[in-house]
Amino acid sequence: GFSRRGVRGNFVPPIRSTGNNTGNVTSRTSGKGEDAVEDSTKRCLELLCGPDGELPEKLRNLEPRLIEHVSNEIMDRDPNVRWEDIAGLEHAKKCVTEMVIWPLLRPDIFKGCRSPGRGLLLFGPPGTGKTMIGKAIAGEAKATFFYISASSLTSKWIGEGEKLVRALFGVASCRQPAVIFVDEIDSLLSQRKSDGEHESSRRLKTQFLIEMEGFDSGSEQILLIGATNRPQELDEAARRRLTKRLYIPLPTSEARSWIIKNLLVKDGLFNLSNEDIDTICTLTEGYSGSDMKNLVKDATMGPLREALTQGIEITKLKKDDMRPVNLEDFEKALQEVRPSVSLNELGTYEKWNQQFGSLS
Ligand code: ADP
Repeated sequence: GFSRRGVRGNFVPPIRSTGNNTGNVTSRTSGKGEDAVEDSTKRCLELLCGPDGELPEKLRNLEPRLIEHVSNEIMDRDPNVRWEDIAGLEHAKKCVTEMVIWPLLRPDIFKGCRSPGRGLLLFGPPGTGKTMIGKAIAGEAKATFFYISASSLTSKWIGEGEKLVRALFGVASCRQPAVIFVDEIDSLLSQRKSDGEHESSRRLKTQFLIEMEGFDSGSEQILLIGATNRPQELDEAARRRLTKRLYIPLPTSEARSWIIKNLLVKDGLFNLSNEDIDTICTLTEGYSGSDMKNLVKDATMGPLREALTQGIEITKLKKDDMRPVNLEDFEKALQEVRPSVSLNELGTYEKWNQQFGSLS
Protein backbone atom coordinates (compact mmCIF):
# COMPACT_ATOMS: atom_id res chain seq x y z
CA GLY A 1 0.00 0.00 0.00
CA PHE A 2 0.79 3.64 0.07
CA SER A 3 3.28 4.67 2.71
CA ARG A 4 2.36 7.72 4.68
CA ARG A 5 6.00 8.10 5.54
CA GLY A 6 6.57 9.03 1.94
CA VAL A 7 5.52 12.59 2.50
CA ARG A 8 8.31 12.98 4.97
CA GLY A 9 10.70 13.70 2.16
CA ASN A 10 9.38 17.19 1.61
CA PHE A 11 8.38 17.86 5.13
CA VAL A 12 9.50 21.17 6.53
CA PRO A 13 9.23 21.40 10.31
CA PRO A 14 6.81 24.05 11.39
CA ILE A 15 8.43 27.16 12.71
CA ARG A 16 7.62 28.37 16.13
CA SER A 17 4.79 30.81 16.39
CA THR A 18 6.02 34.34 16.66
CA GLY A 19 2.68 35.77 17.57
CA ASN A 20 1.87 37.23 14.20
CA ASN A 21 2.05 33.89 12.48
CA THR A 22 -1.40 33.19 11.20
CA GLY A 23 -0.77 29.51 10.98
CA ASN A 24 -1.55 29.56 7.32
CA VAL A 25 0.65 27.07 5.55
CA THR A 26 1.73 29.47 2.87
CA SER A 27 2.83 32.04 5.41
CA ARG A 28 5.74 29.86 6.42
CA THR A 29 9.17 30.63 5.22
CA SER A 30 10.97 27.64 3.91
CA GLY A 31 13.92 26.83 1.78
CA LYS A 32 11.78 24.78 -0.53
CA GLY A 33 9.17 25.91 -2.94
CA GLU A 34 5.93 26.71 -1.26
CA ASP A 35 4.18 24.36 -3.63
CA ALA A 36 6.13 21.46 -2.20
CA VAL A 37 5.08 22.39 1.30
CA GLU A 38 1.49 22.77 0.28
CA ASP A 39 1.56 19.45 -1.52
CA SER A 40 2.87 17.51 1.43
CA THR A 41 0.35 19.13 3.76
CA LYS A 42 -2.45 18.43 1.35
CA ARG A 43 -1.46 14.81 0.98
CA CYS A 44 -1.25 14.48 4.71
CA LEU A 45 -4.73 15.90 5.20
CA GLU A 46 -6.13 13.73 2.43
CA LEU A 47 -5.01 10.64 4.26
CA LEU A 48 -7.01 11.67 7.28
CA CYS A 49 -10.23 12.25 5.37
CA GLY A 50 -13.13 9.91 5.83
CA PRO A 51 -14.79 7.92 3.04
CA ASP A 52 -16.86 11.02 2.26
CA GLY A 53 -13.68 12.90 1.45
CA GLU A 54 -14.22 15.24 4.39
CA LEU A 55 -11.82 15.89 7.21
CA PRO A 56 -13.23 14.49 10.49
CA GLU A 57 -14.92 17.11 12.59
CA LYS A 58 -12.26 17.08 15.30
CA LEU A 59 -9.64 18.17 12.82
CA ARG A 60 -11.62 20.73 10.90
CA ASN A 61 -10.73 23.84 12.84
CA LEU A 62 -7.10 22.99 13.35
CA GLU A 63 -4.19 24.47 11.52
CA PRO A 64 -2.95 22.15 8.78
CA ARG A 65 0.68 22.56 9.78
CA LEU A 66 -0.07 21.23 13.27
CA ILE A 67 -1.92 18.25 11.85
CA GLU A 68 0.99 17.66 9.55
CA HIS A 69 3.45 17.85 12.41
CA VAL A 70 1.49 15.26 14.36
CA SER A 71 1.22 12.94 11.35
CA ASN A 72 4.85 13.18 10.34
CA GLU A 73 6.81 13.69 13.51
CA ILE A 74 4.74 12.43 16.42
CA MET A 75 3.08 9.48 14.77
CA ASP A 76 5.29 6.45 14.37
CA ARG A 77 3.96 3.76 12.08
CA ASP A 78 6.64 1.25 12.92
CA PRO A 79 7.80 1.49 16.53
CA ASN A 80 9.80 -1.69 16.00
CA VAL A 81 10.00 -2.97 19.58
CA ARG A 82 8.71 -6.42 20.55
CA TRP A 83 8.10 -7.87 23.99
CA GLU A 84 11.15 -10.12 23.50
CA ASP A 85 13.41 -7.08 23.23
CA ILE A 86 12.59 -6.00 26.77
CA ALA A 87 14.58 -7.64 29.54
CA GLY A 88 12.81 -8.68 32.73
CA LEU A 89 9.71 -6.73 33.84
CA GLU A 90 7.57 -9.87 33.60
CA HIS A 91 5.04 -8.46 36.00
CA ALA A 92 4.60 -5.24 34.02
CA LYS A 93 4.35 -7.15 30.76
CA LYS A 94 1.65 -9.41 32.15
CA CYS A 95 -0.41 -6.49 33.51
CA VAL A 96 -0.07 -4.56 30.30
CA THR A 97 -1.06 -7.54 28.18
CA GLU A 98 -4.26 -8.06 30.12
CA MET A 99 -5.30 -4.50 30.63
CA VAL A 100 -4.16 -2.93 27.40
CA ILE A 101 -3.34 -5.31 24.61
CA TRP A 102 -6.28 -7.67 24.90
CA PRO A 103 -8.80 -4.80 25.08
CA LEU A 104 -7.25 -3.16 22.03
CA LEU A 105 -7.36 -6.41 20.11
CA ARG A 106 -10.84 -7.45 21.28
CA PRO A 107 -12.93 -4.35 22.07
CA ASP A 108 -16.07 -6.47 21.66
CA ILE A 109 -15.16 -8.56 24.72
CA PHE A 110 -13.79 -5.74 26.81
CA LYS A 111 -16.86 -3.68 27.38
CA GLY A 112 -19.25 -3.26 30.27
CA CYS A 113 -17.71 -4.68 33.42
CA ARG A 114 -14.53 -5.57 31.57
CA SER A 115 -14.15 -2.15 30.02
CA PRO A 116 -10.53 -1.12 30.41
CA GLY A 117 -9.06 2.02 31.87
CA ARG A 118 -7.86 4.41 29.23
CA GLY A 119 -4.91 5.79 31.12
CA LEU A 120 -1.76 3.97 32.17
CA LEU A 121 1.14 5.42 34.10
CA LEU A 122 4.60 3.91 33.90
CA PHE A 123 6.83 5.28 36.60
CA GLY A 124 10.31 4.57 37.84
CA PRO A 125 13.91 5.60 37.33
CA PRO A 126 15.03 6.83 33.91
CA GLY A 127 16.34 4.34 31.36
CA THR A 128 14.44 1.29 32.57
CA GLY A 129 12.35 0.54 29.48
CA LYS A 130 9.23 2.66 29.87
CA THR A 131 9.42 3.98 26.33
CA MET A 132 10.20 0.50 25.06
CA ILE A 133 7.05 -0.81 26.73
CA GLY A 134 4.98 1.93 25.11
CA LYS A 135 6.33 1.04 21.69
CA ALA A 136 5.90 -2.68 22.26
CA ILE A 137 2.28 -2.15 23.25
CA ALA A 138 1.59 -0.37 20.01
CA GLY A 139 3.34 -3.15 18.08
CA GLU A 140 1.59 -6.01 19.86
CA ALA A 141 -1.84 -4.38 19.71
CA LYS A 142 -1.36 -3.35 16.09
CA ALA A 143 -2.07 0.20 17.12
CA THR A 144 -0.72 3.47 15.80
CA PHE A 145 1.90 4.86 18.14
CA PHE A 146 2.17 8.54 18.99
CA TYR A 147 5.14 9.74 21.00
CA ILE A 148 5.44 13.17 22.51
CA SER A 149 7.59 14.52 25.26
CA ALA A 150 5.51 16.74 27.49
CA SER A 151 8.37 19.09 28.11
CA SER A 152 8.50 19.88 24.39
CA LEU A 153 4.92 21.10 24.62
CA THR A 154 5.97 23.75 27.07
CA SER A 155 9.41 24.54 25.70
CA LYS A 156 9.30 24.09 21.94
CA TRP A 157 5.65 24.87 21.34
CA ILE A 158 5.34 27.91 23.53
CA GLY A 159 1.82 29.22 23.35
CA GLU A 160 0.80 26.55 20.86
CA GLY A 161 0.86 23.49 23.05
CA GLU A 162 -2.87 23.55 23.52
CA LYS A 163 -3.51 23.48 19.80
CA LEU A 164 -0.94 20.76 19.30
CA VAL A 165 -2.64 18.67 21.97
CA ARG A 166 -5.95 19.03 20.16
CA ALA A 167 -4.29 18.05 16.90
CA LEU A 168 -2.66 15.06 18.58
CA PHE A 169 -5.87 13.65 20.01
CA GLY A 170 -7.70 14.52 16.80
CA VAL A 171 -5.31 12.61 14.57
CA ALA A 172 -5.21 9.72 17.06
CA SER A 173 -8.96 9.37 16.88
CA CYS A 174 -8.66 9.02 13.09
CA ARG A 175 -6.00 6.37 13.51
CA GLN A 176 -7.58 3.98 15.97
CA PRO A 177 -6.62 1.86 17.69
CA ALA A 178 -4.04 4.30 18.92
CA VAL A 179 -1.54 4.54 21.74
CA ILE A 180 -0.48 8.02 22.80
CA PHE A 181 2.73 7.95 24.79
CA VAL A 182 3.45 11.09 26.78
CA ASP A 183 6.96 11.12 28.13
CA GLU A 184 7.76 13.25 31.20
CA ILE A 185 4.06 13.58 31.85
CA ASP A 186 4.80 15.18 35.21
CA SER A 187 5.86 18.38 33.47
CA LEU A 188 2.36 18.61 32.00
CA LEU A 189 0.25 17.41 34.91
CA SER A 190 2.28 18.53 37.88
CA GLN A 191 0.70 19.67 41.08
CA ARG A 192 2.94 22.65 41.55
CA LYS A 193 0.75 25.68 41.45
CA SER A 194 3.15 28.35 42.47
CA ASP A 195 3.15 31.87 41.09
CA GLY A 196 5.47 30.37 38.54
CA GLU A 197 2.61 28.60 36.84
CA HIS A 198 1.75 30.56 33.79
CA GLU A 199 -1.71 30.98 32.48
CA SER A 200 -0.65 29.17 29.32
CA SER A 201 0.59 26.06 31.08
CA ARG A 202 -2.57 25.93 33.15
CA ARG A 203 -4.61 26.07 29.95
CA LEU A 204 -2.45 23.37 28.41
CA LYS A 205 -3.08 21.12 31.37
CA THR A 206 -6.82 21.77 31.26
CA GLN A 207 -6.95 21.03 27.54
CA PHE A 208 -5.09 17.81 28.08
CA LEU A 209 -7.43 16.64 30.81
CA ILE A 210 -10.44 17.53 28.68
CA GLU A 211 -9.11 15.46 25.79
CA MET A 212 -8.54 12.52 28.12
CA GLU A 213 -12.00 12.83 29.54
CA GLY A 214 -13.33 12.80 25.98
CA PHE A 215 -12.10 9.37 25.07
CA ASP A 216 -12.44 7.98 28.54
CA SER A 217 -16.20 7.83 28.33
CA GLY A 218 -16.65 7.05 24.68
CA SER A 219 -16.13 3.99 22.59
CA GLU A 220 -12.87 5.26 21.23
CA GLN A 221 -9.96 2.89 21.05
CA ILE A 222 -7.31 5.19 22.36
CA LEU A 223 -4.96 4.46 25.20
CA LEU A 224 -2.91 7.12 26.89
CA ILE A 225 0.36 6.08 28.47
CA GLY A 226 2.17 8.57 30.64
CA ALA A 227 5.76 7.98 31.68
CA THR A 228 7.54 9.74 34.48
CA ASN A 229 10.48 9.49 36.78
CA ARG A 230 8.89 12.01 39.12
CA PRO A 231 5.54 10.41 40.01
CA GLN A 232 5.37 12.34 43.27
CA GLU A 233 4.79 15.50 41.23
CA LEU A 234 1.51 14.30 39.79
CA ASP A 235 -1.61 15.70 41.33
CA GLU A 236 -4.80 14.00 42.29
CA ALA A 237 -6.57 14.82 39.00
CA ALA A 238 -3.75 13.25 37.04
CA ARG A 239 -3.69 10.14 39.22
CA ARG A 240 -7.43 9.74 38.85
CA ARG A 241 -7.16 9.63 35.07
CA LEU A 242 -4.16 7.36 34.99
CA THR A 243 -6.05 4.51 36.57
CA LYS A 244 -3.37 1.87 36.30
CA ARG A 245 0.05 2.82 37.66
CA LEU A 246 2.90 0.42 37.11
CA TYR A 247 6.28 0.63 38.73
CA ILE A 248 9.07 -0.05 36.26
CA PRO A 249 12.06 -0.77 38.48
CA LEU A 250 15.76 -1.15 37.77
CA PRO A 251 16.69 -4.42 36.03
CA THR A 252 17.43 -7.43 38.21
CA SER A 253 20.73 -9.20 37.92
CA GLU A 254 19.11 -11.68 35.56
CA ALA A 255 17.75 -8.92 33.34
CA ARG A 256 21.14 -7.22 33.28
CA SER A 257 22.74 -10.47 32.18
CA TRP A 258 20.18 -10.77 29.41
CA ILE A 259 20.82 -7.20 28.23
CA ILE A 260 24.57 -7.79 28.03
CA LYS A 261 24.22 -11.03 26.10
CA ASN A 262 21.59 -9.65 23.81
CA LEU A 263 23.68 -6.63 22.85
CA LEU A 264 26.90 -8.62 22.41
CA VAL A 265 25.33 -11.39 20.38
CA LYS A 266 23.78 -8.83 18.09
CA ASP A 267 27.00 -7.24 17.12
CA GLY A 268 30.06 -9.23 17.34
CA LEU A 269 32.73 -11.24 18.97
CA PHE A 270 33.06 -11.70 22.67
CA ASN A 271 35.05 -13.92 24.90
CA LEU A 272 33.09 -14.10 28.12
CA SER A 273 32.20 -17.19 30.09
CA ASN A 274 28.95 -17.44 31.99
CA GLU A 275 31.00 -16.83 35.10
CA ASP A 276 32.40 -13.62 33.63
CA ILE A 277 28.88 -12.43 32.91
CA ASP A 278 27.86 -13.28 36.46
CA THR A 279 30.78 -11.21 37.70
CA ILE A 280 29.70 -8.24 35.60
CA CYS A 281 26.15 -8.60 36.89
CA THR A 282 27.33 -8.56 40.48
CA LEU A 283 29.33 -5.43 39.81
CA THR A 284 26.42 -3.64 38.13
CA GLU A 285 23.94 -3.67 41.00
CA GLY A 286 21.93 -0.44 40.68
CA TYR A 287 22.60 0.09 36.96
CA SER A 288 19.60 0.91 34.77
CA GLY A 289 18.96 -0.72 31.39
CA SER A 290 20.29 2.31 29.67
CA ASP A 291 23.38 2.33 31.93
CA MET A 292 23.95 -1.29 30.88
CA LYS A 293 23.74 -0.29 27.25
CA ASN A 294 26.33 2.42 27.83
CA LEU A 295 28.54 -0.02 29.69
CA VAL A 296 28.50 -2.52 26.84
CA LYS A 297 29.16 0.27 24.39
CA ASP A 298 32.19 1.40 26.38
CA ALA A 299 33.49 -2.16 26.83
CA THR A 300 33.31 -2.87 23.11
CA MET A 301 35.53 0.14 22.53
CA GLY A 302 38.34 -1.73 24.34
CA PRO A 303 39.39 -4.01 21.49
CA LEU A 304 39.12 -1.12 19.04
CA ARG A 305 41.35 1.17 21.09
CA GLU A 306 43.84 -1.65 21.55
CA ALA A 307 44.07 -2.37 17.83
CA LEU A 308 44.68 1.29 17.15
CA THR A 309 47.44 1.56 19.72
CA GLN A 310 49.14 -1.34 17.93
CA GLY A 311 49.59 0.96 14.99
CA ILE A 312 46.71 0.03 12.72
CA GLU A 313 45.08 3.09 11.18
CA ILE A 314 41.40 3.58 11.74
CA THR A 315 40.76 3.89 8.01
CA LYS A 316 42.48 0.54 7.33
CA LEU A 317 41.13 -1.32 10.34
CA LYS A 318 39.35 -4.59 9.55
CA LYS A 319 36.88 -6.33 11.85
CA ASP A 320 39.32 -9.24 12.22
CA ASP A 321 42.00 -6.93 13.56
CA MET A 322 40.02 -6.58 16.77
CA ARG A 323 40.15 -9.23 19.46
CA PRO A 324 36.91 -10.34 21.15
CA VAL A 325 35.57 -8.28 24.04
CA ASN A 326 36.57 -9.73 27.41
CA LEU A 327 36.05 -9.30 31.13
CA GLU A 328 38.91 -6.86 31.42
CA ASP A 329 37.20 -4.53 28.95
CA PHE A 330 34.16 -4.59 31.17
CA GLU A 331 36.18 -3.97 34.30
CA LYS A 332 37.66 -0.87 32.70
CA ALA A 333 34.29 0.28 31.42
CA LEU A 334 32.83 -0.06 34.91
CA GLN A 335 35.13 2.70 36.04
CA GLU A 336 33.87 5.00 33.30
CA VAL A 337 30.17 4.22 33.33
CA ARG A 338 28.60 4.75 36.75
CA PRO A 339 24.98 4.06 37.72
CA SER A 340 22.76 7.04 37.02
CA VAL A 341 20.18 6.39 39.73
CA SER A 342 20.87 6.89 43.42
CA LEU A 343 19.65 4.66 46.23
CA ASN A 344 17.88 7.65 47.66
CA GLU A 345 15.75 8.09 44.55
CA LEU A 346 14.84 4.42 44.59
CA GLY A 347 13.33 4.88 48.03
CA THR A 348 11.04 7.59 46.67
CA TYR A 349 9.72 5.29 43.95
CA GLU A 350 9.12 2.41 46.34
CA LYS A 351 7.22 4.67 48.66
CA TRP A 352 5.06 6.14 45.91
CA ASN A 353 4.44 2.65 44.60
CA GLN A 354 3.21 1.51 48.01
CA GLN A 355 0.87 4.46 48.21
CA PHE A 356 -0.44 4.86 44.66
CA GLY A 357 0.90 2.02 42.52
CA SER A 358 -1.14 -0.82 41.09
CA LEU A 359 0.45 -3.65 42.96
CA SER A 360 -1.36 -6.42 41.18
P1 ADP B 1 12.81 5.08 29.84
O1 ADP B 1 12.40 4.20 30.98
O2 ADP B 1 13.57 6.28 30.31
O3 ADP B 1 11.69 5.39 28.90
P2 ADP B 1 13.87 3.66 27.57
O4 ADP B 1 12.76 2.70 27.36
O5 ADP B 1 13.93 4.83 26.63
O6 ADP B 1 13.90 4.21 29.06
O7 ADP B 1 15.25 2.87 27.53
C1 ADP B 1 16.45 3.46 27.07
C2 ADP B 1 17.36 2.40 26.48
O8 ADP B 1 17.89 1.58 27.52
C3 ADP B 1 16.61 1.45 25.56
O9 ADP B 1 16.65 1.90 24.24
C4 ADP B 1 17.36 0.14 25.75
O10 ADP B 1 18.48 0.10 24.92
C5 ADP B 1 17.85 0.20 27.17
N1 ADP B 1 16.94 -0.49 28.10
C6 ADP B 1 16.32 0.07 29.17
N2 ADP B 1 15.56 -0.82 29.82
C7 ADP B 1 15.68 -1.99 29.15
C8 ADP B 1 15.12 -3.30 29.32
N3 ADP B 1 14.29 -3.60 30.34
N4 ADP B 1 15.45 -4.25 28.41
C9 ADP B 1 16.29 -3.99 27.40
N5 ADP B 1 16.84 -2.79 27.18
C10 ADP B 1 16.57 -1.78 28.04
